[in-house]
Amino acid sequence: MRAQKSALCWLRRDLRCYDSAALFHALKYHECVFCAFVFDTEILDRLENREDRRVEFILKSVLELHAELEKLGSGLILLHGAAREEIVRLARELQVAAVYANEDYEPAAIERDRAVAEGLRESGIALHLFKDQAIFARDELLSQSGAPFTTYTHYKSAWLRKLEPFYLRPYPVQKYQAHLARPPSASPVPILEAIGFRPTNLAQLRVFPGMAGARRSFLDFLRRIRFYREKRDFPAVKGVSYLSAHFRFGTLSVREAASLAYDLGNRGADAWLAALIWRDFFFSILYHFPHVVAHPFRREYEALAFPNRPDWFAAWRAGRTGFPLVDAGMRQLNATGYMHHRLRMLTASFLVKDLHIDWRLGEKHFADTLIDYDLAANNGGWQWAASTGCDAQPYFRLFNPVTQSKKYDPEGRFIRRYVPELAGCDGKSIHEPWKMSVFEQTSAGVVIGRDYPAPIVDHAAERQLTLTLYTAIRPTAAANSA
Ligand SMILES: Cc1cc2nc3c(=O)[nH]c(=O)nc-3n(C[C@H](O)[C@H](O)[C@H](O)COP(=O)(O)OP(=O)(O)OC[C@H]3O[C@@H](n4cnc5c(N)ncnc54)[C@H](O)[C@@H]3O)c2cc1C
Repeated sequence: MRAQKSALCWLRRDLRCYDSAALFHALKYHECVFCAFVFDTEILDRLENREDRRVEFILKSVLELHAELEKLGSGLILLHGAAREEIVRLARELQVAAVYANEDYEPAAIERDRAVAEGLRESGIALHLFKDQAIFARDELLSQSGAPFTTYTHYKSAWLRKLEPFYLRPYPVQKYQAHLARPPSASPVPILEAIGFRPTNLAQLRVFPGMAGARRSFLDFLRRIRFYREKRDFPAVKGVSYLSAHFRFGTLSVREAASLAYDLGNRGADAWLAALIWRDFFFSILYHFPHVVAHPFRREYEALAFPNRPDWFAAWRAGRTGFPLVDAGMRQLNATGYMHHRLRMLTASFLVKDLHIDWRLGEKHFADTLIDYDLAANNGGWQWAASTGCDAQPYFRLFNPVTQSKKYDPEGRFIRRYVPELAGCDGKSIHEPWKMSVFEQTSAGVVIGRDYPAPIVDHAAERQLTLTLYTAIRPTAAANSA
């Protein structure tokens, strides 16, 4: 009897129990719905750093979700193993009729879901997948010729044209919450050590995981959203939402966020909605062009001959390039697992176009370190900065690290926060500390080359080398840009 009535909702990057497409449909069509989360060893075993802030963020969010579901008379079934096997085994054990989950657009996840669907099918169990993490996905937005959009501006216009209240309406999970079932046996509450990890500095960073953390940050941002357009480019200012980790793990519903921004309709909210559209755009690129995971979107750039100096790569990673704003960005990343968007663009451009290091190495470092790491956004951002992407920065446009510093951190407030060696510099010399005289260095309390590195490269010279490297494979483009 139970076979027809019951279902399993498999939560992945949707760690919430409200406005979830999969959970709503499972509850609507089944009288008895179990919920499960798998600490997937196929993902976790590949993480080199055992003090990974993401894992702690996920664990805390999962525990909060478990507690919230318990209040509703249910709870999460918590598993540790290969998700593709664990879910099939659990579904059979529970004798459910179907498994429900929200779609994932990463090639490895699509392959995993295909394997799970096949395993379930052998037992006569269906797998139902739902769009949830994007407003528009897969083939919902295509050009007139039926091809996926490869320029953001066109994608954004089509996105806004198609948008109707229907797409932002929340799934009223609460309407059917009485169908939530209590797990047959209590799962042991996992601790980080049990899944092979150690605690991080997440709590000291005041990063608040879970639905409650998301709500707190979202409400805080809503008080500031109207200033987003003016303030978003300045890392020292609280101008952006800092919600990326919550979008990444689904502790905040993107429908709810987009809907509020759409309804507000002021300049700041519109600019923020445009940021959420970038998110959908990169999901779409990854879904339609999965080769971007390991290769340039524009295949001709595969031939780029990056010298890849290991000592320069190490200096970049450690935030010791001698360019203060670049170093501040990298140190923010290392210390907090977050980096401001302006600095992601700057540090990525610097790695590829000033240090001539393959964008894939930088992409991997971000992937290992960012709490909000998302394959689609990270790959899209890196390919944009490296000019290898679909709608990328032209290869002959390079960020000047000093000009960027003067423009976006004019008083050096952000630099001072993350590069304390330069805290004594005045607002002018902090952007180019190597230009200080010995006397000025003494008054600022820093000796360049001893306390803080001299620039490891000459931006003007490296710019020329970049143009040579890129034009070597794009002679026509070079002629056009001259
Ligand atoms: C080299 C590089 C790597 C990046 N890697 C990631 C990543 O791994 N994960 C990630 O979520 N974002 C990534 N981004 C995009 C962007 O930098 C972050 O989303 C943003 O800084 C997160 O801060 P926020 O939540 O305060 O953003 P806000 O400015 O408040 O934006 C709101 C939300 O919109 C989305 N968003 C904003 N800009 C972008 C964008 N350009 N592409 C895709 N989504 C966007 C994010 O979900 C973000 O939380 C990357 C950008 C670059 C240039």
